[in-house]
Amino acid sequence: MPYRYAIIGNPVSHSKSPAIHREFAREMGLSISYEHLLSPLDGFNQTVAAFRSAGRLPAAGANVTVPFKINAFNYATELTARALRGGAVNTLKFDGANILGDNTDGVGLYADIERNLAFKIAGARVLVMGAGGAVRGVLGNLWDASPALLAITNRTFIKAEDIAKQFNDAKSSSAGAGDSKEKIRVMALKELPAQQFDLIINATSASLAESLPLVPVASFAPGALAYDMMYGKGQTPFLMLASSAGARTADGLGMLVEQAAESFYVWHGLRPSTMPVLAMLRAQLAKI
Ligand code: NDP
Repeated sequence: MPYRYAIIGNPVSHSKSPAIHREFAREMGLSISYEHLLSPLDGFNQTVAAFRSAGRLPAAGANVTVPFKINAFNYATELTARALRGGAVNTLKFDGANILGDNTDGVGLYADIERNLAFKIAGARVLVMGAGGAVRGVLGNLWDASPALLAITNRTFIKAEDIAKQFNDAKSSSAGAGDSKEKIRVMALKELPAQQFDLIINATSASLAESLPLVPVASFAPGALAYDMMYGKGQTPFLMLASSAGARTADGLGMLVEQAAESFYVWHGLRPSTMPVLAMLRAQLAKI
């Protein structure tokens, strides 16, 4: 029997998740329904409850995007370890009264950087800019990949401090005797010019407003990769700055497809091919 899925957000109509999941389902020979679902900012729980109870087909899951990832974390009745680590959920799986909350953003980012872009995070100096829901989802996977340095910075400094503390505290309580990994470092914007990075990830929503997070050109090491989680037709201001500093650039379209593939696996236990869907979306973006 076909099942229903949705991407819940505000705004949400721009989301490519329905197209991605329909393509995955087509490849796998599954029949699914996947829709955009706009939720009022103060009505996330009611929106999910209405989605679950309405419709001819049973609702089996939902993806969750800005600004509801923490609402989804609180809504779930069971959480995976990777969702618990960051305190944010982008994938809900409904099973009777049970609501599983998971987070596939970190796996998606890791797969795109390491596999699709062939960049090795192990031993690299990595800077993450931002301290919102997306950062909560990806920090653990970046840390597990053993960078030489993992730093986080944010316009509102205290939010970066809070996230780093949460991850570092969890790390300390689970560390074995031989675990000598340095903690996630919080850096103020004014400290950045003194440090070079091999990978700089823009996980702020500055690019949505076509503005630039404050990153100095001096922070890009020779041969650095600049990664903007945002995606669109042209380069974001962050990627333009990175290009001018000689860095290699990548947008977040690959992450989007890879995190969707991981959600698909959570729901269906099947791993679809991501490259054809990424190529399809890239071609569509070029036509806009
Ligand atoms: P949140 O709203 O939770 O967080 C936004 C972050 O951006 C905050 O740290 C905020 O700083 C910062 N910020 C916003 N405007 C500016 C600005 N003008 N200059 C500097 N910093 C700014 O968003 P998310 O974390 O959920 O998402 C962040 C981005 O990542 C979005 O663009 C989203 O589309 C993208 N994303 C992409 C994914 C993909 O698959 N490609 C997956 C998930 C997210 P402050 O704390 O100071 O307000």
